[in-house]
Amino acid sequence: MEIVTVPQNELLSVTVIDAQGLSNVSLIEAVKKELNELCGIRNTNFIKLYNIPRALPKLKNLKYEMMPSETRLTDRLFLAGDTQLNASLNAAMISGERAALGVIASINTAI
Ligand SMILES: Cc1cc2nc3c(=O)[nH]c(=O)nc-3n(C[C@H](O)[C@H](O)[C@H](O)COP(=O)(O)OP(=O)(O)OC[C@H]3O[C@@H](n4cnc5c(N)ncnc54)[C@H](O)[C@@H]3O)c2cc1C
Repeated sequence: MEIVTVPQNELLSVTVIDAQGLSNVSLIEAVKKELNELCGIRNTNFIKLYNIPRALPKLKNLKYEMMPSETRLTDRLFLAGDTQLNASLNAAMISGERAALGVIASINTAI
C-alpha cells in the first residue's frame, strides 16, 4: 500500500502543557525543533498560538475503564464524556461506548 501525502495541506496541532517560562517566540521555536528532531517534521509554517489556562477539567478519582452499568444515572439518563474517567480523547471515547452499551443493555432488559 502506498500512502501519498501532500505536505502543504497537512495541519498539525501541538499541545504544550508546561511552557517552562519560555516566551511565545522561543516556545514556537522549541516546538519546531522537537518536531524536527523527534518526529522528522520539517519546513513547518506556524499559524496560531492559543493560551488556554485551565483547559482541562480538574478531576479526582481518575479512572481508565468503567462498566456500562456505571454510566446509568437514572432510568433514562446515561452519562458519557471525559469527566467520567480522565481528561483524554481515549477516555471520552471509552465512556461514550460504555454509555451506548448501557443504553443497549437497558433496552434489551426492558424487552
Ligand atoms: C488544549 C487541549 C489539548 C488537549 N490535548 C489532548 C491530547 O493531546 N490528547 C488527548 O487525548 N486529549 C487531549 N485533550 C483532552 C480532550 O480534548 C478531551 O478530553 C475530550 O475532547 C473530551 O471529549 P468529550 O466529548 O468528553 O467532551 P468535550 O469535547 O468537552 O465535549 C463536550 C461538549 O458538550 C457541550 N456542552 C457542555 N455543556 C453543555 C450543556 N449544558 N448543554 C449542551 N451542550 C453542552 C460543550 O460545548 C462540548 O461541545 C486536550 C484538551 C484541550 C482543551
